[in-house]
Amino acid sequence: MIVDAHTHIFPPEVAQRRETFCMMDKFFGELYGNPAVRIARVEELLAEMDGAGVDVSVLCGFGWASHELCVMHNDYLLDCVSRYPDRLVALAAAQPLAGDRALAEVERCLARGARGVGELMPDGQGYRLTEHHRIGGLFEYASERGFLVLTHATEPLGHDYPGKERVTPDTIWTLVQGYPKARLILGHWGGGYPFYELMPEVRKASRNVYYDSAASTYLYSPEVFLRVGEIVGYDKALWATDYPVLRQKRFLERMEQLSLSEEQRAAVLGGNAVKLFGLSDTE
Ligand SMILES: [Zn+2]
Repeated sequence: MIVDAHTHIFPPEVAQRRETFCMMDKFFGELYGNPAVRIARVEELLAEMDGAGVDVSVLCGFGWASHELCVMHNDYLLDCVSRYPDRLVALAAAQPLAGDRALAEVERCLARGARGVGELMPDGQGYRLTEHHRIGGLFEYASERGFLVLTHATEPLGHDYPGKERVTPDTIWTLVQGYPKARLILGHWGGGYPFYELMPEVRKASRNVYYDSAASTYLYSPEVFLRVGEIVGYDKALWATDYPVLRQKRFLERMEQLSLSEEQRAAVLGGNAVKLFGLSDTE
């Protein structure tokens, strides 16, 4: 089974009124202000999956600064999942700064089958992962309820790109220490966090931390799959495109060229996601 653990689709009104949403949400504007940047809908994602041989995609919410926009986005994602329950699962958009309203929204989405929350976009949403007094409610709740939290993550060095700000491994580490029971998925290979799992105390505290390969081709050479697998274990790495940022078919073809064992390949391309997102329940 092949699972894309990190994709983005938007409600039709966001694509139709792109400029309005760019004005309403500064971070959305930074990422999608350029009309050449694709905003995909569910039909396009499903066609992509069919063409690439992807069985299931994880739909991620955008990290809207406004709670109301998170709710709007979730309505669309939940509707898509209810229409294609064997092809799609969702992570709910949430603004942790909305406090109890955010928790109630997460609960609503979990009741409708969402597997957790994501993608958090701390810079766009106006907090840092170090500010536990402002965002801790969500992570306490995630620890208690056992749902997944996917956060955007960025490298503290290297080339610049829209959306690259301050979600660096040191800030993630405070979260891991503060909420060791929270099941975290770090997008984009955690901005380099896997390297620090070579430190025994970091490895010990990070047993509930997973990594996805969203947008990997733009950031790392393909061997990142091998190196991260060696360091953290191939059971903690999830193949993910960040669709439509990367195309599923091409990325899968690239995966063929990596010297992974059959077992490692199967785990990274889908087996790990099946376990983590509880996909056997829906199949
Ligand atoms: Zn991201």
